Amino acid sequence: KKTIRLILGDQLNSNHSWYDTIDEAVTYVLMEIRTETDYATHHIQKIVGFFAAMQAFALDLKAKKHNVIYLHLNDENNLQSFDKNIEFLIEHNNFTHFEYQLPDEYRVDEHLKSFCKTLSITSSAVDSEHFFTTREELGHFFEGKKTFVLESFYRAMRKKHNVLMEAGKPVTGQWNYDGENRKKLPKNHKPTPPLIFNNDVSEILDEINKTNIKTIGNIDSKNFVWPINRQQSLELLDFFVTDCLHLFGSYQDAMTPNEWSLYHSRISFSMNVKMISPQEVIDKAIEEWKKRPNEIQYNQLEGFVRQIIGWREYMRGIYWLKMPEYASLNYFDNQEKLPEWFWTGETKMNCLKDAIGQSLEYGYAHHIQRLMITGNFALLAGVNPDEIDAWYLGIYVDAIEWVQITNTRGMSQFADGGIVGTKPYVSSASYIDKMSHYCGSCYYKKAIKTGEKACPFNSLYWNFYDKNEEKLGKNPRIGMMYNVWRKMQPEAQGALLEQADYYLKNINNL
Ligand code: FAD
Ligand code: SF4
Repeated sequence: KKTIRLILGDQLNSNHSWYDTIDEAVTYVLMEIRTETDYATHHIQKIVGFFAAMQAFALDLKAKKHNVIYLHLNDENNLQSFDKNIEFLIEHNNFTHFEYQLPDEYRVDEHLKSFCKTLSITSSAVDSEHFFTTREELGHFFEGKKTFVLESFYRAMRKKHNVLMEAGKPVTGQWNYDGENRKKLPKNHKPTPPLIFNNDVSEILDEINKTNIKTIGNIDSKNFVWPINRQQSLELLDFFVTDCLHLFGSYQDAMTPNEWSLYHSRISFSMNVKMISPQEVIDKAIEEWKKRPNEIQYNQLEGFVRQIIGWREYMRGIYWLKMPEYASLNYFDNQEKLPEWFWTGETKMNCLKDAIGQSLEYGYAHHIQRLMITGNFALLAGVNPDEIDAWYLGIYVDAIEWVQITNTRGMSQFADGGIVGTKPYVSSASYIDKMSHYCGSCYYKKAIKTGEKACPFNSLYWNFYDKNEEKLGKNPRIGMMYNVWRKMQPEAQGALLEQADYYLKNINNL
């Protein structure tokens, strides 16, 4: 038996059991191909990051004496798709068996499944050995239930994997610390500067520049900031637990201009391409907390563990339960286009300028910027979720569909009608101001609702509720907002709707 094993760009898991033995009869293949660079318009740092990490992974496998074929983007014999390249390799190397790890993306999964049916040799798929859960686990957990409550899934995960548990109970007796977390940054607080890597990726960039691949965003190819191998990923994790974890929960939802990552871990890219595993991430955080219990309060740790073992696994489960229908859900039937400045950051709205600007600069924005700033605005502006998905899928280095679409279409846009969230995540300027320092230096005025310099979030917020009353009016979690709206004088309502209409008509000039 002569086996060819495909390693996808997001399957760089060096601890996979595939690599336990060195087998002369097995050849691994990694490929930089146009189907993957072109299925969305990606940030240049995302493509470069993937290729750099794949190259490092291939070198590591070779150093460990595994047989590896690596197809570079511009190699002559690169046929630019998984199926064509594998067919070619099978033919020229007489492989008798094809193997792959279960992909995380529905698109790639379908592609490989149907490709295997066309093969004349045998084939099989194995688990990627990365997640806590299988694809189907969440579906089984919520079987027969109408709602998919994160909290109950998270608690079950903690119990099942014995994370921060003692005799079947949470170590502190309490499950949820959201109440203690999520504070605004104090005015003169100077956050810890992020650890960045000064990777030289200019060769990869040169190769990409020889093609007509369309990309967005900026890159400094001599000082590429993202980790591109396991070693750097572990360094970043180490930096996070020593320098950021102690304030992670407190400032999880905080935003301030020109500080692009605050106390966030920025390990999503490393984890999503599987250079590090969620198990080692939480183990490391818990170990650090045990070492420094006086410096790292439990609420900081719990807030972090919840993201990894809760939200991340939950989103993956929802994805496999609801795809492919999920990708076309549009609960509010929103049809508008994304404002042009989403691609440039050129808007007078300070919060959006900052969140989009840093996304173009680094291929990164932290969670609350994605949710409360860009996502919130897009929903209030009635933008078609297809456009919003395309933007999020392209712009972030960590964007892979299973975790992007569930967050975007679900959590942020409520386009799934309430599978992931219980109500749409929208807010006016007051909440943005509560969590950030954006409004003070903004062209628009946070407290003004109509007229010159009125913050667009204010009128768009009420316009959103008014427009969607039929769908949201009965939602018990939003009833209060409708009471406020109904009590407003008709003139005040009219002025707000008129202001919103004006902004929507002039959206590219905001
Ligand atoms: P931290 O704040 O340090 O959190 C630690 C880890 O927890 C993250 O690395 C991530 O793995 C996990 N996590 C936290 N929140 C979530 C969540 N809501 N869903 C899943 N995992 C979570 N995450 C992606 O990995 N890829 C995406 O394409 C993506 N798109 C998003 C789009 C929108 C509209 C929103 C609101 C969120 C999106 N997220 C996405 C989730 C989250 O914003 C990112 O995981 C996080 O910002 C990554 O930065 P970090 O590693 O510094 O995270
Ligand atoms: Fe954003 Fe409005 Fe605040 Fe300006 S005033 S930063 S647009 S919320």
